[in-house]
Amino acid sequence: MLNIVIFGPPGAGKGTQSQNLIEKYKLAHISTGDIFRAHIKNDTELGKKVKELLANGVLVPDSVTISMLEEEVKKNPQAQGFIFDGFPRTVPQAEALDAFLKSINTSISVVVALDVNENELKIRIAERKKIENRADDAEDKLLKRIDEYFSKTIHVLPYYESQSKLQKINGIGKVEDIFSAISKAIDNSK
Ligand code: AMP
Repeated sequence: MLNIVIFGPPGAGKGTQSQNLIEKYKLAHISTGDIFRAHIKNDTELGKKVKELLANGVLVPDSVTISMLEEEVKKNPQAQGFIFDGFPRTVPQAEALDAFLKSINTSISVVVALDVNENELKIRIAERKKIENRADDAEDKLLKRIDEYFSKTIHVLPYYESQSKLQKINGIGKVEDIFSAISKAIDNSK
């Protein structure tokens, strides 16, 4: 199995690059942000619980996020591998993911971390807001999300670095050039 974590701050290009990776490597894509948004749209119990958190750019508690993630993996028993997009975002999530994958006899193959500076992130998200109109792309919410990234999520990087799974990729440039750098990193990890 090829299991990839695509990692980076909001606006780094995780969603765009995941779409390319799905096609090339035929993997199941699990975006925790997309799943939460679908729950909110469908007004499920989980959706009601997390609506305010997403609207304010605050992370959903680990216990909720981890069990949702495990459910999604279990829904795809035929998958040749997964792309985890937007997960893990905390060290306890990373530890839970390792334990869960071990329990189904697999593991993370590689972590692709897209490196994009804060200024570029703000420009990109302002553009995305015009197209997708995500409420949490508004400036005050975005600042909260960037803050969550730098206070909680960034600690996931040394976690994977210590396992020698981390591949840092420059996330600024043409989408296709970034994709080819990501593909090389993945192929080298096999
Ligand atoms: P995203 O689409 O990945 O930017 O995620 C949008 C929002 O969903 C985040 O700002 C969080 O509120 C929530 N979220 C997504 N993934 C996670 C996660 N792994 N842990 C906690 N909250 C998450």
